[in-house]
Amino acid sequence: MESALFEKVSMELEGLESIYADEGVVDSPLSVCDSNSITCSLKLIPNTGFKAQKIAVIIIARFTFPEKYPLQAPEVEFTSVKGLDDDQIEEIKRRMRKEIGELVEQRIENTDDSGIIYDMHERIRDILTEYNDTIRGRCAICLEDFCSKKDTDMHFSSRIDLVRVDECFHRFHLLCLHRDWFMPRVVEKDEFGCDVVYKMGKYKKCPTCRRKCTQQEIDFIHKQYLDHTEFEDRAY
Ligand SMILES: [Zn+2]
Ligand SMILES: [Zn+2]
Repeated sequence: MESALFEKVSMELEGLESIYADEGVVDSPLSVCDSNSITCSLKLIPNTGFKAQKIAVIIIARFTFPEKYPLQAPEVEFTSVKGLDDDQIEEIKRRMRKEIGELVEQRIENTDDSGIIYDMHERIRDILTEYNDTIRGRCAICLEDFCSKKDTDMHFSSRIDLVRVDECFHRFHLLCLHRDWFMPRVVEKDEFGCDVVYKMGKYKKCPTCRRKCTQQEIDFIHKQYLDHTEFEDRAY
């Protein structure tokens, strides 16, 4: 038999799905946990609206609703994240929990037991939108920030010296990634001054998540590099 909680959250999810029909917002359907709480996964994406901007951040998050929901906050854990580095993930988690906490507070104050899923989803979307084309963050290869502190309102996509790997959305300097993938070998000195030779790997992997990259991704980076060699020559 389905509990009242199950029924309530199902209704809320249906509402959400009817609004975001094309986006597959419910990633895995509602199910009952051992402890009588219920859980489901949502696909969270930024609101790129009419800007025709590419979606560059996706989070799949599992929400667990306790028996006292909505007067007790659902728990959140991320099961899959694309396009964000560890610091950003922590920041977003913190901000999400704060927003959820606020919504629950409001319900308690107003003795209102209407669900928070719609409001929660809207607020999370707003947060993710901020991160979608942000220039903030650093290249995981050279560990340099993408821009100086005063230029943080620039957009990532407007900089031709920066690239995003297609499938996992991890971001790098074009030159750093190209060097990582295409330099035939790198010779470095070890602590005793001897040469250590690193051969080019058999596969080209994303330096951040170590995922084996597709030929399409590799070709794209190589083409970007060739297109901007002139630019790079000037810059370095
Ligand atoms: Zn770099
Ligand atoms: Zn990656």
